[in-house]
Amino acid sequence: MEVYPVAFREIMVSYTAVDDRVHAAVLHELLLRQTPTVEQLARVTGLPAIAVDDAMGRLRERGAVVGDPTGGVVAAYPLSGVPTSHVVALDVAVAWANCAVDALAVPAMVGRPGTISSQCTLCSGSITIDVEGTVVRSREPAGVVVAYGGLTDCRDRPALVRSCPFVNFFCGEAHAAQWQPPTTWSGRFLSLDQAARLAVSNFHHVIEVYQRFRPEQ
Ligand SMILES: [Zn+2]
Repeated sequence: MEVYPVAFREIMVSYTAVDDRVHAAVLHELLLRQTPTVEQLARVTGLPAIAVDDAMGRLRERGAVVGDPTGGVVAAYPLSGVPTSHVVALDVAVAWANCAVDALAVPAMVGRPGTISSQCTLCSGSITIDVEGTVVRSREPAGVVVAYGGLTDCRDRPALVRSCPFVNFFCGEAHAAQWQPPTTWSGRFLSLDQAARLAVSNFHHVIEVYQRFRPEQ
């Protein structure tokens, strides 16, 4: 008879619970800009490495986690494992987000106010946004808008390739209007308040998983 650690015995009845616990641990590692290795995830979740490895396979298949060919983690939406131009500062961590909408979801996921630092896609001017949940507390400049869309000719590719590079902030409507997206881009422009609400709505499931299963601080 195999003997599993207590945490694993409790939840082995359900793949979903294992996957959620590993998913939350991956998000937590990326939040802290740490590399979510199987060994590290096994340590923080109390699950056997083999169970973590299986869960990671399912999370990659589902598209919740994007891996690289060496088995590393490139992203777990909304967070990135590599530096991006969308930085979210919280009192507990300073994390990289995959795109503008992903950045807007991070404070709600962590349940803390956050400050997003990014740039206008056209003029590279600094953009700073204070967010709490779905509410934008302050913004600089005042007219920030978000391009929300992606490429229509690579729907089989992960969002990281097909949409994230094209979901960006602009300093205002004038620069958004001057932006020339690739010819296969399809999308629309959102006010910052619309984008903040959309972000939390899109990430409803991830926010729930993280808040329920995040490792002990
Ligand atoms: Zn601009």
